[in-house]
Amino acid sequence: MAMPRKTLEEFFWSRVKKADGCWAWTGSVNKEGRGHIGKSVLGRTISAPRASWLLHFGAPEAGKNILHRCENKLCVNPGHLFLGSRLEREPRVKWAEADLNAASIREQLDYDPETGNFKWKMSRPGIIPGQSPKMKATKWGYLRITILGVTTMAHRLAWLHHYGRWPEGDIDHANRDRGDNRITNLREATRSQNLANKKTRRNGLKGVTFHKHRGRWSARANKDGKAHHFGYFDTEEEAHAAYCTGAVKLHGEFARFK
Ligand SMILES: [Zn+2]
Repeated sequence: MAMPRKTLEEFFWSRVKKADGCWAWTGSVNKEGRGHIGKSVLGRTISAPRASWLLHFGAPEAGKNILHRCENKLCVNPGHLFLGSRLEREPRVKWAEADLNAASIREQLDYDPETGNFKWKMSRPGIIPGQSPKMKATKWGYLRITILGVTTMAHRLAWLHHYGRWPEGDIDHANRDRGDNRITNLREATRSQNLANKKTRRNGLKGVTFHKHRGRWSARANKDGKAHHFGYFDTEEEAHAAYCTGAVKLHGEFARFK
């Protein structure tokens, strides 16, 4: 097996243009637009990203596809590749925010906390490093941005970029200007600050919100504008029980359970 691997290696590197960002495949391309290595090398055809994976990480898990974080089908930079299911390769599938992390977006984008502006770092078809990403304003005045196939709010992305994690709840713009995404203008306002203080969520138990990134229920209550968090739970009922206990400690006889 040593011979074909070496041949693949030689063939692969003779057709790759390494760069800081994406590594461009200069060999042939299949009908899907991905780099392609014909039968003459391995005795079977193999995609260039798969060959890159094989050479850098060994054989990928069976049944998995090699996908691009950079969305550049011709890229063979192993740092831009990940293993995923076929579904993720289908066009127009929006990944959940949970699929973006600080490392992957920092590789793509610069965020200036002083101005709140973003700039592309990585060169991709149609995108020049240093350009500002196209953003659309929602009808409420928030800016929307699409990165790595995920459309999210620019202020949420700013938070992830700056602090390395998604905000726990909603983001509030301190000066009420929803297009002003300077980091000092962004505040983490838990959804329960709006909800738990006022009335019970429809069809929900008081003091409980579902934390979608953790996939667990969060229990919290507010006192004097400060959120008190009682932990994450597997069920809504457990979270509500924790809320009730916590609310009694915070509010005594004024605690509300519904
Ligand atoms: Zn790439």
